[in-house]
Amino acid sequence: MKKNKAPEGMTCVIVVDGKFCGEEPNRGQLYGAPNAKVPLCGRHAAETYAWSTSQYRDKLIAQLVEIGALSFHSPGVTYIVKLPNGRVKIGMAGEERIAKRLEDVSREYAKAGYKEPLTVLALIKGGGTVEASLHHKYQELRVTDELGEQFRAEPELLDFATETGVSEEFAWVVVSYEQWWNKCSKKYTGQDPTEKAPTIDDDEWDF
Ligand SMILES: [Zn+2]
Repeated sequence: MKKNKAPEGMTCVIVVDGKFCGEEPNRGQLYGAPNAKVPLCGRHAAETYAWSTSQYRDKLIAQLVEIGALSFHSPGVTYIVKLPNGRVKIGMAGEERIAKRLEDVSREYAKAGYKEPLTVLALIKGGGTVEASLHHKYQELRVTDELGEQFRAEPELLDFATETGVSEEFAWVVVSYEQWWNKCSKKYTGQDPTEKAPTIDDDEWDF
């Protein structure tokens, strides 16, 4: 029998809602370290791979930042926002995309039923490298659900974010986000919940 072959009848062992996933192993294979292999379906093999590579990348970048080996950060802006579900998101976008990115995050949560705006805690110059080192620094607080990767709003993270704050050059992003929210949330904040929402032509706010 080939070493990586999943034994006959064995299915994906990832636990979903208290039960084994139970899908067929991807390509009939086992996955993992040489002496710790498990059967995984295609989706769970991909998720495990993506998670372990991002963990590895975050750690490596965090170590480079720590020892001062990076002479500059990768381009972009890293944001730390308080989400309407009470958690925190740490992400990044290009400088020209950052305002739109916050709108996208906001819309995603609104669609999931959280109809409060984001609170922008910090906007930091630097993209992927800043994001990776923060993801690593706060990895103990990481939570993942159907809305993706988030962090528990513990004081250590909130304190860091508020102390860091919004860099002056990105103050416009907060203004832009708030204007967008005020315009788009109007139809949900009316006194009469049965009143028909006003039409907003220039935004695809569709939840
Ligand atoms: Zn699975």
